[in-house]
Amino acid sequence: MIVKTVADLHAVSNCPMGETCENCGSEFELNIETVETKVMGVFCLTLCDECTEFERMPKMTPVMVTHAVLQHCGHLEITADRMDQLMTEGEKQ
Ligand SMILES: [Zn+2]
Ligand SMILES: [Zn+2]
Repeated sequence: MIVKTVADLHAVSNCPMGETCENCGSEFELNIETVETKVMGVFCLTLCDECTEFERMPKMTPVMVTHAVLQHCGHLEITADRMDQLMTEGEKQ
């Protein structure tokens, strides 16, 4: 079996951390988490420890998700097309 190396869409080293948790607004113990949506791609979110632990997420409209995915593409320095490609490649594994 050939294991392909897929560029890590979940890398957050270039993602700017928000000042508050995007779910509950807490200013403490913040992390950058990535969320993968099957249709749109991967995006990053600033969440506090508690929201991360309980996998809580803010409610986002498809437009917000699309915007967040595009921003995360920018953080990864890839195009939206490339992300699409990587998502599809990931599914074939
Ligand atoms: Zn929170
Ligand atoms: Zn990002």
